[in-house]
Amino acid sequence: MHTNEALFAAARSLIPGGVNSPVRAFGSVGGEPYFVARGEGAHVIDVEGRRYIDLVQSYGAIVVGHAHPFVAEAIAEAARLGTSFGAPTPGEVNLAEEIVARIPGLDRVRLVNSGTEATMSALRLARGHTGRDRVVKFAGNYHGHADLLLAAGGSGMATLGLSGSAGVPASAVADTLVAPYGVVPDLDESVACVIVEPVAANMGLVEPPEGFLAGLATECRRVGALLIFDEVITGFRVGPSGEVGRSGVTPDLVCLGKIIGGGLPIGAFGGRAEVMSSLAPEGPVYQAGTLSGNPLATAAGLTVLKMLDDDAYRSLEEAGRRLADGLGAAFDAAGIPARVPRSGGLVGLHFNSEPATDYDSARLTSEAAYARFFHGMLDRGVALAPGAYEVMFPGLAHTPDVIEEVVVAATQTARDMAAG
Ligand SMILES: *Cc1c(COP(=O)(O)O)cnc(C)c1O
Repeated sequence: MHTNEALFAAARSLIPGGVNSPVRAFGSVGGEPYFVARGEGAHVIDVEGRRYIDLVQSYGAIVVGHAHPFVAEAIAEAARLGTSFGAPTPGEVNLAEEIVARIPGLDRVRLVNSGTEATMSALRLARGHTGRDRVVKFAGNYHGHADLLLAAGGSGMATLGLSGSAGVPASAVADTLVAPYGVVPDLDESVACVIVEPVAANMGLVEPPEGFLAGLATECRRVGALLIFDEVITGFRVGPSGEVGRSGVTPDLVCLGKIIGGGLPIGAFGGRAEVMSSLAPEGPVYQAGTLSGNPLATAAGLTVLKMLDDDAYRSLEEAGRRLADGLGAAFDAAGIPARVPRSGGLVGLHFNSEPATDYDSARLTSEAAYARFFHGMLDRGVALAPGAYEVMFPGLAHTPDVIEEVVVAATQTARDMAAG
């Protein structure tokens, strides 16, 4: 069973759709997925020995490159001491300390096992803390797959064209209000919290318009609602203190994930001590996890955070800039209507001549053009995410040479696309 085809056939008979997360099945771009045998810095190598420059990078969970020796060693060392205890470990304190030190306004943090758990728990905390039920989210923002947040989500849901999901009863989303991204909604005192991707990265890449985040903070304060930044993607990627630091807007709660686990399952949410103390065992809001604060995940995450110094952020920004400029030039040269928005090291791809500013305009991207671009790049040894609403994650392993290879492949692919 050494070919992608044989593995996918076997996977489909064992796992729904053959995958453990829907977008991986290539449904929206066509074709069949490659099965990764191993990763190495900016590259992944599939089971047939094909080597790809990888811009997926575990959808942003990887920032220092695959199988970084420091990270692998930290995990191995932690594993030798035992993988899970159900009792507190020093790694949890160390990772919490590192996170709290870096993000302004964060006094306390609770570690969980995924971004989904982080947002789900943060919303429960916001409701419990305020004694209110209503939750406001923005169309096209994705916050994981908790029931109450599966309304007008981005990412795989955007691709699937679902406004929600079967199995989510109307009652679960009855208190979820969906507002257009980029416009500060008028709130009232029934609202417990507003959750937002401070830079939207699950409907392609959409930066918040000037004043949007500060406006949200003001409106939340006016009615006593909590503001939650979902920085599961942006946290420690767009800058050393995420979008909180870059925007200068301090939310009440911040959700983290992806990068902070160094490629192992993790999530976190944190905020002011006064809010966080509503959480059990200090307060009445229950939240727990058998594997939470896992010693392998904290060791990997801590190792990665220590590598993310000012130089690293300069490199990330530079990689993002080179990639965005190069792709933009490739599409311009071929006369293909496309936008390549960038925020720090995050790069989006929008096949339309007008920029995306919200979910409606984001969905004007040509999914057919994305599918062609995706396969053209894959044929040339560059792996993008198999979904038109995902973003690219150049990391520290994406040196200028590697980015140049991507740009060459994009220039050829764009030319092919223009030729029809
Ligand atoms: C990935 C993501 C999540 C969900 O995290 P999981 O670890 O996949 O559960 C939540 N919010 C945002 C913004 C994300 O990008």
